[in-house]
Amino acid sequence: MPSASGWQSDKEDPVLASASSARIGLLLGLLLLAGCGQPADPARHRQFFALGTLVEVTYYGIGSDVAEQASQELEQMFLRMHAEWHAWQPGRLQDTNRRLATGDAFPADPELLPLFEKANRLSILSDGLFNPTIGKLVSIWGFHSDERPAGPPPDNSALTALVSQQPSVTDVAINDGYLRSSNPAVRYDLGAVAKGHAIDQGIGRLRELGIHNAIINAGGDLRAIGRHGDRPWRIGIRDPRGPGVLAAIELGDDESVFTSGDYERFFDHGGRRYHHIIDPRTGYPADTVTSVTVVHTDATTADAAATALFVAGPEHWHAIARRMGIRYVLMIDANGTVHMNPAMQKRISFDTEPADIRLSTPL
Ligand code: ADP
Ligand code: MG
Repeated sequence: MPSASGWQSDKEDPVLASASSARIGLLLGLLLLAGCGQPADPARHRQFFALGTLVEVTYYGIGSDVAEQASQELEQMFLRMHAEWHAWQPGRLQDTNRRLATGDAFPADPELLPLFEKANRLSILSDGLFNPTIGKLVSIWGFHSDERPAGPPPDNSALTALVSQQPSVTDVAINDGYLRSSNPAVRYDLGAVAKGHAIDQGIGRLRELGIHNAIINAGGDLRAIGRHGDRPWRIGIRDPRGPGVLAAIELGDDESVFTSGDYERFFDHGGRRYHHIIDPRTGYPADTVTSVTVVHTDATTADAAATALFVAGPEHWHAIARRMGIRYVLMIDANGTVHMNPAMQKRISFDTEPADIRLSTPL
């Protein structure tokens, strides 16, 4: 998740490099829905690059100077978080990983501690399908760095060796602000929750600034608070296999919408696509799903859940969503079948009605 200010080159950005036009398509989709056909959209929009992607902040009911100041603050905040929370560059997370590997107890970084605690809880609820301690696996695949992943896939024997070490959040003891790992294979990779956590922090800051109607959207993953004037915020969910918007949804007073997709970061090798969401049980990219969208109040939970349900796949997502307390799920499987729970179906309006929809029992 590298970053630069404003509309600058995205050449070095792995996320944008693999999906820039589609992302911009989504953001435009969001703008159009927000505008809702009015001649001049009264909402204010600010954009910058941070968290490895284009961040768009939309405000309603505040002046231009307040919007400008808030956006600059968010930009600085996200740039700093991005730099500190990466496992592959010097910073707080890398320090933590180095010390975890020793097996000794050490004081946790105060900024990261709440995120470790929350990520650990979410991992346990997800039955370990969202597993933030598989940093070694992510790195051997090459999905850990700011470089675009190139392949080829790692040797099967190397993957099997890493999987057999079974790193898990249950190996990490957190006591009185101290961390200790009993498994030398544990390496934190917060890639599946960092964006959600950053957006939650950003929304907290906006509220402190007295801003109560806004959306923070980082590359299509977002949290919305308040309303767009006299109507709810309305946003587009991106089509995983096309440039456009798959569906639209109206959001309640405080809701996050997060999507995990196989199009975010990947490389092709030998006629196969290898993407960045790894099944911790096999060491290979989870291959039954192309995208999962989750709607939930806080962005951190939505982010972790989208990743977990992606790994769970069409047969097992329902049980994991229940355990994680998720109430709205939209999943597109590898055959193009759309899986939803009834509450999600009620809320969503498709651009083109999907040919094959499987409705689950209520969550
Ligand atoms: P994105 O934010 O890129 O849309 P995710 O939120 O699903 O996608 O996060 C994927 C990232 O999380 C990967 O790049 C990797 O760093 C990490 N990761 C991959 N597989 C898992 C997993 N099973 N559990 C936790 N983190 C994972
Ligand atoms: Mg995620």
